[in-house]
Amino acid sequence: MAALDIVRIPVLSDNYVWLVHDPESFETMVVDPSVADPVLAEADRRGWPITAIWNTHWHPDHTGGNADIKAKTGCEIIAPAAERERIPTADRLVKDGDRVRLGSHVADVWDVPAHTAGHIAYHFADDAAIFVGDTLFAMGCGRLFEGTAEQMFANMQRLATLDDATRVYCAHEYTLSNARFAVTVDPENRALADRLVAVEAARAAGEPTVPTSIGAERATNPFLRAPTAAELGRIRALKDAA
Ligand SMILES: [Zn+2]
Repeated sequence: MAALDIVRIPVLSDNYVWLVHDPESFETMVVDPSVADPVLAEADRRGWPITAIWNTHWHPDHTGGNADIKAKTGCEIIAPAAERERIPTADRLVKDGDRVRLGSHVADVWDVPAHTAGHIAYHFADDAAIFVGDTLFAMGCGRLFEGTAEQMFANMQRLATLDDATRVYCAHEYTLSNARFAVTVDPENRALADRLVAVEAARAAGEPTVPTSIGAERATNPFLRAPTAAELGRIRALKDAA
């Protein structure tokens, strides 16, 4: 099985759309297209036919390109079953325990409610990669718009079971802001302090900081490291007010 080609497409102010290509089957899917044109242009430039869109949740900066990309490519749109009303372009609805495929690469669907009520993630176990939308960020987690700290804590606990090497593809470049906040709630964490310095340098040079990895997050992410749901909720509230 050839490795997936995964391409980052920066759009809007801080979104990342992921273009994922299987070189054997030539199938190509897009995770959470905020907009259509830059995604179609990148796929065109590479000669990759877009065969599917995989949405993690209904927010417009994750689904805004669905209709145009589908109209231009005829691709299938896979979306969370619990958000069917809010993703009317969906062709196939999936939930925890379902499996979706890109060529011979298989992803398990995880329900990760909290940022939105029906949010899902796509875990390619054999590829050691997970597409988490707005659930886990580098040194951060998604805001609790439609769920609870208990739900987000359960999501973090489940993500923490993955191998350190698992690459985490999140949907925003929030890393610098997250790192600056994280050091205020975990000031003794040397790995976190070092990571803040590295992230400041990367961003000053205009470089992206994602994907991240489960190992990096296990060492530095105060939300993934929170010992209880109450502690996660406390620091989430602090971050919201920051
Ligand atoms: Zn969102």
